[in-house]
Amino acid sequence: MKTLLAPLLLSLAMTATVFAAWPINDECPVDHKPSRPIYRVKTDEGFVSFCCTECMQKFAKSPGSYTVKKKDVPK
Ligand SMILES: [Zn+2]
Repeated sequence: MKTLLAPLLLSLAMTATVFAAWPINDECPVDHKPSRPIYRVKTDEGFVSFCCTECMQKFAKSPGSYTVKKKDVPK
């Protein structure tokens, strides 16, 4: 029974993780270039993504200096 349930639970957990880790923006808050989800930092509002590691580090040093433009979520 355990062997049947484990893969199902694992796939559910992974789906939830991917959804929660999706960035709240699609534009780099540092230089306003299109951001890539692989470069991201977790903030109170969720994951913020950047165009490159350089911007990611700049933001991480002083998150208050940059305004994160959230992407429009269709409802
Ligand atoms: Zn950037």
